[in-house]
Amino acid sequence: MTQDLLTVLSQFPATLAKQVENIIIDPSFSAYFTSQQVEQLTHSTDMDTQTLAQHLLPLAAAYAYTPISDFRVGAIVLGESGALYFGANIEFSNVQLGQTIHAEQAAIVHAWMAGEKRLTDIIIDTPPCGHCRQFMNELSGADTLHITLPGKEAKKLHDYLPEAFGPLDLGIQTGLMGEQSHQVHAEYSDPLKQEAIKALNKSYAPYSNTFSGIAIELTDQRVSLGAYAENAAFNPSLPPLQVALVQLRMHGSAFNDIKRVVLAETKSGKITHLDDTRSTLQKIDPNIQLEYIQI
Ligand SMILES: [Zn+2]
Repeated sequence: MTQDLLTVLSQFPATLAKQVENIIIDPSFSAYFTSQQVEQLTHSTDMDTQTLAQHLLPLAAAYAYTPISDFRVGAIVLGESGALYFGANIEFSNVQLGQTIHAEQAAIVHAWMAGEKRLTDIIIDTPPCGHCRQFMNELSGADTLHITLPGKEAKKLHDYLPEAFGPLDLGIQTGLMGEQSHQVHAEYSDPLKQEAIKALNKSYAPYSNTFSGIAIELTDQRVSLGAYAENAAFNPSLPPLQVALVQLRMHGSAFNDIKRVVLAETKSGKITHLDDTRSTLQKIDPNIQLEYIQI
């Protein structure tokens, strides 16, 4: 991954390239810039954060995985902490297109899984599709979220999505990324199962009540977590496997680094991710055995 990023970086203005290189060559770089790094970069380049993010978009797009479209999209979100998180589109061969992850979704869940509670801005290199506008409308703080497109002034999400349908229409007050406390506990000695339950407790599923989380163990022992992100319009919901695969990509890992996968779900919900998760994983690699726990 680092080599791909360095190739992209060779097209950057020299002063910005040098400083960004110092950050991305760190082996622990995980496709985000801390608030401190953002502050240093905006200060030394005399850019505001949104303009800086626009310059960084080609780096975000380098994380795309597009075996179907070969069309790479980069998105970057600004968290209220001041940190910037990358996102890129991810596609899956041999499964239905509904499994696809859009760049905006990737950037949002990247920030969410990293602990951000609210986003102020999203910076994208391509106008957001209707599906992503609806996904963003689920966010707690959707009313104040700004979207910046290349060469355009920042506009509010609701300028792009007037007369929106959202969580409030279904009586839900807390949006995606808002504080959740499902308090689901179960005793497992297996640390990966505990991690899956941790992801489940972070999930946002106010419509189906199927709280759901995934933990993926990689061959280098690292773990990628994914919490389920539901949507008032149902179809734009992002399953826990997709959220975990975003983390995996943003850590610079590849799908063939997957060693074990655990899906944890609550029994009392109205849906399940079991069949889709199993079948998508089978297409990624038939040797991956999905382990399932219901609580
Ligand atoms: Zn989209």
